[in-house]
Amino acid sequence: MLKSFLPRSSRTLLRPVASGTYAPSAFTIVPRRGLASEAPEHDVVVIGGGPGGYVAAIKAAQEGLKTACIEKRGALGGTCLNVGCIPSKSLLNNSHIYHQILHDVKNRGIDVGDVKLNLQQMMKAKETSVTGLTKGIEFLFKKNGVDYIKGTGTITGENEIKVNPLEGGEVQTVRAKNIIIATGSEATPFPGLTIDEKRVVTSTGAIALEQVPKKMVVIGGGIIGLEMASVWSRLGSEVTIVEYLGAIGGPGMDADMAKTMQRILTKQGMKFKLNTKVVSGDVSESSVAVNVEAAKGGKAEALDADVVLVAIGRRPYTTGLGLENVGIELDERGRVIVDSEYRTKVPHIRAIGDATFGAMLAHKAEEEGIAAVEYISKGYGHVNYGAIPSVMYTHPEAAWVGQTEQEVKATGKEYNIGSFPFSANSRAKTNLDSEGMVKFITDKETDRILGIHIIGPNAGEMIAEGVLAIEYGASSEDIGRTSHAHPTLSEAFKEAAMACYSKPIHA
Ligand SMILES: Cc1cc2nc3c(=O)[nH]c(=O)nc-3n(C[C@H](O)[C@H](O)[C@H](O)COP(=O)(O)OP(=O)(O)OC[C@H]3O[C@@H](n4cnc5c(N)ncnc54)[C@H](O)[C@@H]3O)c2cc1C
Repeated sequence: MLKSFLPRSSRTLLRPVASGTYAPSAFTIVPRRGLASEAPEHDVVVIGGGPGGYVAAIKAAQEGLKTACIEKRGALGGTCLNVGCIPSKSLLNNSHIYHQILHDVKNRGIDVGDVKLNLQQMMKAKETSVTGLTKGIEFLFKKNGVDYIKGTGTITGENEIKVNPLEGGEVQTVRAKNIIIATGSEATPFPGLTIDEKRVVTSTGAIALEQVPKKMVVIGGGIIGLEMASVWSRLGSEVTIVEYLGAIGGPGMDADMAKTMQRILTKQGMKFKLNTKVVSGDVSESSVAVNVEAAKGGKAEALDADVVLVAIGRRPYTTGLGLENVGIELDERGRVIVDSEYRTKVPHIRAIGDATFGAMLAHKAEEEGIAAVEYISKGYGHVNYGAIPSVMYTHPEAAWVGQTEQEVKATGKEYNIGSFPFSANSRAKTNLDSEGMVKFITDKETDRILGIHIIGPNAGEMIAEGVLAIEYGASSEDIGRTSHAHPTLSEAFKEAAMACYSKPIHA
């Protein structure tokens, strides 16, 4: 009751201390008297219009806060919509269809005539998806009353941001009671290889190549590297992936899954050089030579390529943001240091998404955007970092949530494993698409699900059930005793759960 009688500005700074009572939060800002000549003050200004920033801005406006979002790219949606998740998935989907028509449909009783790749049109289809979605966010900003400011934002004071307008003109001053930094990340460069986005490319160049390279070397066997490798391999490139570690997929991927995935991708024609480091690259007029040797030292070799993709990871992007003007600190990896409520050293300046700690994933940034706003408007928020899924959109897809078997083992906890192959699932067999499996890891004592790992068709959709299970603290028996429609791929999910606490029926 108390809450509704308070002016909005005070309400935003209250946090619950016990049910029904509210107390000022530790970082209460004393209201300041504005001068007539000053720019109007926003309750929340978000810097960066990616999945973290635009979601935070919409949520803040929905909470009744006067909100602006500053974006310098000229389009909303950030890395994800413009050069990341969305364009890469468009190319993955359409290259898969092309590959399937070339190599798979005959088997299914479909004879097709001459099949030709029209790369320009494939890129156009990608652009159509991107533009439709980025414009959609502009519409949502209008609908929710978010002020969209096009330009580069620099924090010049604890409540002040100067914006250099995208289209030129005078620098604008924006005042804010709360600032949310959502400036995202950029590709980590490879020392000694200058990115020109034509022959030595990051993922941004790799989603915009004008022709199919004959040979492509991908430095880094993580998710982005493998997705891009899939696209160009399907379109006809001879792709070699060089990975420093002994496994693909990055540290979050369960070792069994990484091995299975490597076997499947090798069958699709990709070559892997694991435990191998790139030492240098020689770029000439027509090609790039990538010099590699065994990670622990050894015989050197030169790999020839028309295009080299540098996919060794991403790093937070805070260039020109002016953090030094307000004493906000970065850690040794360039991440904005925040507390559990996303507050920086200046408590009403928060940071979310790729710019700060945690997995560099769009949905993680979105969750943080909502939570950060709720900390401002309500005093409490929630993100369960143990239940953030990861998906690799190769074919078949790989998806996981929770801990890997290696991580569980390292805790010393006793655990059960239950797995079920798609080759024993009726729908997968009917679809002639049955590579992969589902693997559950549960606590031996309590049967609580600790991790779920899937390789299979539509794994990225199927993992949602696993995320919900972990979110609700489910056991494998909870899943095994839940009816799953027949014939669906999700029956493999149920049977893997059954394999954990009992036995599957169909394997
Ligand atoms: C090829 C590729 C594929 C990917 N695929 C997936 C996927 O399938 N699923 C997934 O979950 N994640 C994926 N990601 C990762 C995902 O894109 C990021 O995790 C996500 O975009 C992070 O969101 P963010 O809001 O933190 O930052 P970003 O999306 O990077 O947005 C930050 C925005 O801030 C703007 N900005 C920066 N500084 C300023 C400033 N000073 N003033 C104004 N604006 C500024 C930038 O222009 C940018 O638009 C992929 C990434 C890449 C590169």
